[in-house]
Amino acid sequence: MFWEISRAVLQYSRRSCCLKRHYSFLPDDVKSLRSVVNPDVSKIRNIGIMAHIDAGKTTTTERMLYYSGYTRALGDVDDGDTVTDFMAQERERGITIQSAAVTFDWKGHRINLIDTPGHVDFTLEVERALRVLDGAVAVFDASAGVEAQTLTVWRQAEKHHVPCVCFLNKMDKPAANLSFSMESIRQKLKANPVLLQIPIGRGKNFSGVVDLLTNQRLTWKMNEREDDGRVFVAKPLSDVKEPELVEEVRQARTALIEQVADLDDDFAELLLTDFGDNFDAVPSIKLQEALRRITLARKGVPVLCGSSLRNKGVQPLLDAITAFLPAPDERPHDLVRWYKDDLCALAFKVLHDKQRGPLVFLRIYSGTLKAQTALHNINRNSTERMSRLLVPFADQHVEITSMTAGNIALTVGLKQTVTGDTIVSSKASAAAAARQAHKEGKTSKGHGQQTSVVLSGVEVPDPVFFCTIEPPTMAKQADLENALNNLQREDPSLKVRLDPDSGQTILCGMGELHIEIIHDRIQREYGIETHLGPLQVAYRETILHEASASDTLDRTIGERRHVVTVELLVQPGEDLSQVAFAEEAAGTLSDSVKEAVENGAHSLYLQGPLLGYPVQGVSTLIQSVNTEPGTSPAMVSACVSRCMLKALRLAGGQLMEPVMSLEVTVEEEYLGTVLGDLAQRRGTVRDIQSRHDNKVLLASVPLAETRGYSTILRTLTSGKATFSLELDTYEAMSTQDQNVLLKRTAGLL
Ligand code: GDP
Repeated sequence: MFWEISRAVLQYSRRSCCLKRHYSFLPDDVKSLRSVVNPDVSKIRNIGIMAHIDAGKTTTTERMLYYSGYTRALGDVDDGDTVTDFMAQERERGITIQSAAVTFDWKGHRINLIDTPGHVDFTLEVERALRVLDGAVAVFDASAGVEAQTLTVWRQAEKHHVPCVCFLNKMDKPAANLSFSMESIRQKLKANPVLLQIPIGRGKNFSGVVDLLTNQRLTWKMNEREDDGRVFVAKPLSDVKEPELVEEVRQARTALIEQVADLDDDFAELLLTDFGDNFDAVPSIKLQEALRRITLARKGVPVLCGSSLRNKGVQPLLDAITAFLPAPDERPHDLVRWYKDDLCALAFKVLHDKQRGPLVFLRIYSGTLKAQTALHNINRNSTERMSRLLVPFADQHVEITSMTAGNIALTVGLKQTVTGDTIVSSKASAAAAARQAHKEGKTSKGHGQQTSVVLSGVEVPDPVFFCTIEPPTMAKQADLENALNNLQREDPSLKVRLDPDSGQTILCGMGELHIEIIHDRIQREYGIETHLGPLQVAYRETILHEASASDTLDRTIGERRHVVTVELLVQPGEDLSQVAFAEEAAGTLSDSVKEAVENGAHSLYLQGPLLGYPVQGVSTLIQSVNTEPGTSPAMVSACVSRCMLKALRLAGGQLMEPVMSLEVTVEEEYLGTVLGDLAQRRGTVRDIQSRHDNKVLLASVPLAETRGYSTILRTLTSGKATFSLELDTYEAMSTQDQNVLLKRTAGLL
């Protein structure tokens, strides 16, 4: 028997006072979790919510938890007391960074809501979350339509073939615009929106929706201050005495049926044979089944309307999640076949708890996860014991003994697991799965058998910003290292390295905010007041033309003489820097010499000749390597590095800088000021669009010029602008800019 609840609720140490208020009742409600002791996999929905910042993701999540019965008070993002944003700095900043998972039940379904962060600095977290969920809800501000960050996340969802449902939130705003939002989904997301509801009343008078599938009018009370929206009235349209609304609905339903028939052949056939033109007679269940097929095939996206803040339209959204989004077994994965009934799970989130140590969130793809068993981590090639198994409920956890495929689990005791690792029951089970994969010819060349049976990790892009980090005293250095180790296990996009020259610790991150948050967390969670050095841009180096060089290294160490001569050619090449051997050289060199040559080349690629940044877009052709007997591989590497340095210097060094794509939404009166400021930042305007009373400015701007942009923009526009920044590309710097940078780095400016 799974899902046995062996203990009541455990409290997670980070929980804050305001959260206690919400959860003091939880032990009673644990009963309702017990009511679905072993959820049938077809009743599980692993979903995420994606949205642009401020579209209402947090508010909508809160309402879902409230209507499903898991919270008894409505949280308010504006007061900073919501369930999902439970980390202190998230509340302060009003943004969601942690992908925490929340489990709740809705009408006999188990919904695991995986929180996806909205800020572009955290797209990696979004990407990781998207890999473990089966469906997504895209929340839009109905007055703004599709905004930049949604576009980014949507593209990622597309990449992972995640079926989506859209929720047009904020229908209570005077500027809310249904047709504009539908058009924007069509144009910007290149998606096919299928409207399932007609909003009733505009702006402040928005009171509910007509469900086009069931032909029912759903209305909520208008005095939302006293009303939590839990109760709403469903009335058949035939009883509604508003001819205009009835006509509007009739037309919209006809359009819906025609659209569904266009997208789904089975439905088209049914329509033709059984109903002809009599659209009124089409049963809602047939429409629903067709819409489910359409959504799963990503041929269209159901669109619903509502206002989370005003407590309207959230219950139908929950219905839509269960009706249209897939169950885990509807998203087949090779791994399920390879592991059969053996356990295979992905660690998609690691959090550090002061009392319990690391808490690892797992998505189970196959088999059963049992508490107090040993688990094998394929990525680390290590076996460790998981002590306890919990159901994640925001920052509350219910202990259970085992959990089946399709579910999201929270484990205690896995000390080595890093975000992105694949967990199985034993080494033997991984080997058996590898054999099965091999039989099917699915083992990818060059990756070995093991890697094919792990869940492919999320690609971690190189960080764009870095800075030094120092503890207040040397005595705290060990604590700082521990904190940074923990944070890196939680967040693989954070990189930490030691500067070999200065011995300082360097923090590398995906953006200014990312580094700021890490700094905050070290202070709050680990009690260490660290000092950050100035934020620096991670440049790249490349070359302008080809050049060849030769070098000889002749060194006697002790009794031994090492002599090696290298000839090579460097050329501008693909993005990724590579090493190749000329035919003559390839034939004569031993494997150990080749390896030493490659090591020498790669160490130079890591630290270019201009300013020590990684070298990109260079291919090196090794023309000859001659060694005298007794020469060590380390000397060969050293000679290759030195020779490459020579060649790269001759080849005209060029610095490349990260260039961001910037989107600023601003009131028209401030547009001129924002443009003027952008010109001073070496920005290039790509487009200026109108969105209601606002202007949307699309531009490219070098990352180096974006430091402190949020504060400056707020000052320039009296807080009337929002912006998003995303890494676009690396571009060669102009000679003038490059010279300024080189002089500044050398301390000459
Ligand atoms: P998130 O950044 O996407 O998580 O958005 P939040 O849920 O934090 O909401 C952002 C802001 O929009 C807050 O001030 C909310 O009160 C407000 N908001 C959320 N939903 C609605 C809505 O339906 N109507 C209106 N008018 N405001 C809303």
